[in-house]
Amino acid sequence: MKVLVIGGAGYIGSHAVRLLNRSGHDATVLDSLVLGHAEAVPAASLTVGDLSSVDFLTELLVRDSIEAVMHFAAFASVPESVIEPAKYYENNLIGTIHLLEAMRRTGVSRLVFSSTCATYGIPESVPITEETAQRPINPYGFTKLACERAMADYSRAYGLGFVALRYFNASGAAEDGSIGEDHDPETHLIPIALQAALGKRDHIAIYGNDYPTPDGTCIRDYIHVDDLAEAHRLTLERIEPGAGRYYNVGTGRGFSVREVIESARRVTGRPIPAVEKPRRPGDPPALVAAADLLRRNTGWAPRYTEIDAIVASAWRWHSKHPEGYA
Ligand code: UDP
Repeated sequence: MKVLVIGGAGYIGSHAVRLLNRSGHDATVLDSLVLGHAEAVPAASLTVGDLSSVDFLTELLVRDSIEAVMHFAAFASVPESVIEPAKYYENNLIGTIHLLEAMRRTGVSRLVFSSTCATYGIPESVPITEETAQRPINPYGFTKLACERAMADYSRAYGLGFVALRYFNASGAAEDGSIGEDHDPETHLIPIALQAALGKRDHIAIYGNDYPTPDGTCIRDYIHVDDLAEAHRLTLERIEPGAGRYYNVGTGRGFSVREVIESARRVTGRPIPAVEKPRRPGDPPALVAAADLLRRNTGWAPRYTEIDAIVASAWRWHSKHPEGYA
């Protein structure tokens, strides 16, 4: 399929582009390069632009004879969304509406959308299934839930076929260490731990030690970026016109902040000083996926289930590219 990958020069998008091209699809990338990196994708496939104009998006879909869209282009930092919600509503929500409108105009009716476990807020129980009530507790989660609702309405009224993949914590890097995670500023746990291992930070902060979890720190389900990319490919190939599907994408295993930092110490063989700090606003105590539906409907299974294997793949990227992309 001719697939437009929006946000394809970003962390998860770039891994999806590589997998699509290796699986016989033809990926074209649209990226604003605000957070994305041109070096992460084949130069010939990249169009630089954003989601602010329906006309521009419409022309692009026609120009490249696009048959399906993967939409990764979003701001995805929980703490930033609390401080700057306007940025999140503008880009994540309004940008997505523009895309849906361009797809409606051109009759492109297959969409894989990056949703998030942040749409669940503080779940009543874990693991979280797709039936768990969605009650976000931060603006990031609200913008993604609003996009899910918009897609459902476009699907019923206009025949859009879509899949919303609710990611848990994307992590790791391509096995050969050639592409990986490079955010500026970095806010995510694993890359920050590895930057501390590289001596680029003098310590890592542990945000909150009084959560209702066994060691008092937050628990997350870390899902490898290549396993996420594979979930995109498998669901893309199964989209039904006029139907929407929602899938959790996680390993089903949860690791605490302390366990992740311990893993980073083991993998790197370096001391990583940690300092306990107050809770970060917007953080639920524990998020772990039940991803059985995705497994059942597509045959998907994560290749990375051990935290050390995930951290080791991230370490290959960070140790080869201590300054990130050029
Ligand atoms: N975290 C931390 N120190 C850091 C970065 C993150 O203790 O320097 C914690 C954060 O509070 C959360 C977990 O690690 O409980 C995962 O955070 P991350 O930002 O990686 O992903 P999120 O779950 O917010 O999407």
